Order: sequence, then C-alpha cells, then structure tokens
Amino acid sequence: VKQASRNDFRFFTQEMQTHSARTLQLVNALRHALPRHEFELHFQPQVALQDGHIVGAEALLRWRHPELGMISPAEFIPIAEDSGQILAIGEWVLRTAVRQLKQWLDAGLRPMVIAVNLSAVQFRHPNLMALVTRILDEAALPPEFLELELTEAAAMDDPPAAIAIMNKLDEHGIRMSIDDFGTGYSSLSYLKKFKVNKLKIDQSFVRDISDDPDDKAIVTAIINLASSLGMHTIAEGVETASQLAFLRLQGCDEVQGYYVSKPLPKDQFEAFVRNSIS
Ligand code: C2E
Ligand code: CA
Ligand code: CA
Ligand code: CA
Repeated sequence: VKQASRNDFRFFTQEMQTHSARTLQLVNALRHALPRHEFELHFQPQVALQDGHIVGAEALLRWRHPELGMISPAEFIPIAEDSGQILAIGEWVLRTAVRQLKQWLDAGLRPMVIAVNLSAVQFRHPNLMALVTRILDEAALPPEFLELELTEAAAMDDPPAAIAIMNKLDEHGIRMSIDDFGTGYSSLSYLKKFKVNKLKIDQSFVRDISDDPDDKAIVTAIINLASSLGMHTIAEGVETASQLAFLRLQGCDEVQGYYVSKPLPKDQFEAFVRNSIS
C-alpha cells in the first residue's frame, strides 16, 4: 500500500509539472486548429551573398487562435510533437508551402527553393518518402525546388538511421539542410556521410559575430568545414550590415534574417521579391 501511494504521488506531481494548464489548453485548441483554418505560413527570404539575389524562402508556421491570439511555433510545435498532432500539421505545412511555390513559379516569380522545417517525428516516420513525393506530384513541382530542414540535434539523435533516410530523399532529388548547426554536437564522421547540401549556421553564433572573437572563429570554422565537405552554408538571424560583411568575407553562401526581411505573409513576400533586384 505504501509503495502504491508513493508511486501515485510521484505520478501526480510529474503530471502537474509537465502538463500546465496552458499546455492542456493548447493541446485541446490544437485539435481544432487545422479544421478551423487557424494556421498560416509566413515566408522569409534567403539571399545569395555573391549577387544579392533571393534564391530561397523558408516557410514558417503561424497559429492565429481566435481567443489566445498569435501563438509562437517555439511554444506549440513541441506540444504538437508530444501529442502526435505534428504529423497532420507537418503535412499541411508541406502541402501548403509546395503549392504556394508552384503558384509563384507559374505566375513568373523568380525561381527559388522553398525550405520547409521537418520535425524529428516526421523525419523518422516510415511514410515520409511517400508523402513528400505525393505532395510534389500533386503540385507538379520538381523535387529540386524543395529543401527539408532538419535540426542538427534530430539528425544526430540516431545518425545511421538519419543517413538511410537522407540517402532515400537524395535518390528522389529532394534537398536537405541541417538547421541550427553548431548547437547539436555533430560527430564529424557521421556528418560527412549526411546527404545534405547546406548547413544553416545557428543564429546564436551570428548574433555577436561582430565583436566576439570566439563566435567569429566558430562561424569561420563551420564555413570551412562545410566547404571541405562539399556543402553550402547559410547564416540565420543576420540583423546588421556588419554581420553580413563578415559572413561575405568568410565565404558564406547565403544569409537569412531581419537585415534582409522578417518572415512575411504570402502577398507581402511576393511583393518583396518583385520589388527586389533581379
Ligand atoms: P528555426 O527553424 O530556427 O527558424 C528561425 C527562427 O528565427 C524563426 O522563428 C524566425 O522568425 C526567426 N528569425 C529569422 N530571422 C531572424 C533575425 O534576424 N533575428 C532573430 N532574432 N530571429 C530571426 P519562428 O518563426 O518563431 O520559428 C521558431 C521555430 O519554430 C523555428 O526555428 C522552427 O524550429 C519551428 N518551426 C517554425 N515553423 C515550423 C514548421 O512548419 N514545422 C516545424 N516542425 N517547426 C517549425
Ligand atoms: Ca529552420
Ligand atoms: Ca534555425
Ligand atoms: Ca531554432
């Protein structure tokens, strides 16, 4: 009896800690978010440092709840991953992003790649390959226009499994990038086996790049590492001209960040691209 009640107590306190009232509210509200059309995608330009052209867009998920207002993906994605809802949400993101790019290309917008964030749950799901190819087929978008972003932490969680999935995606011509690079303790012996064409340098290293010698050294090392592995680099969270100048000097390929533009609703993104140099 003593044993049982102690376990009950432990269970209860754990529940209280991990499932706050807000979390429970979001889990419930998330169930209605797709059918009630509460999600939208915003798009953030990715710019080539060589010539300043917009060469890509990252699709970023936004949830507008009628009572709770705008809820950050940083808050609700982890909840959706725990509850399994991320699969349906992720499928909606992929389909919406792919359709949107196809529509833009048909309307004569300059060719670019659409980058879509992939949760670890989606990446490991056995149906991933079939889903991605079906969505591309439905929209008649060639695979090389899609880039899947996977965090370094997710890729390094089970590297042999990740390598197998990346090989399959690569066989189908789908690109991958490693997101938040530098934060996930990469094993270099695995990294060189990853079929990825881009490392996304995490914004925590970019932030103080102008005055912190350690961050300067880390960013330079990542750019050189990528280059020696035949991968491209994109720096995230670029907010100032001096950050951009340093990245260009070191040979970083692309930048993304508020210095170029915040993530924009689709119509504003389209206008931004049309008004930019081409
Ligand atoms: P992330 O993939 O690392 O995305 C970059 C985040 O940095 C975005 O936040 C973006 O708005 C923000 N950002 C862009 N430029 C700057 C800048 O110059 N300065 C600063 N301080 N921030 C900048 P956001 O949109 O709030 O997304 C947060 C995270 O939520 C994403 O981080 C990603 O991990 C996740 N996420 C967003 N959309 C999706 C999605 O469709 N699926 C999945 N699985 N995760 C998503
Ligand atoms: Ca990302
Ligand atoms: Ca990132
Ligand atoms: Ca991040």
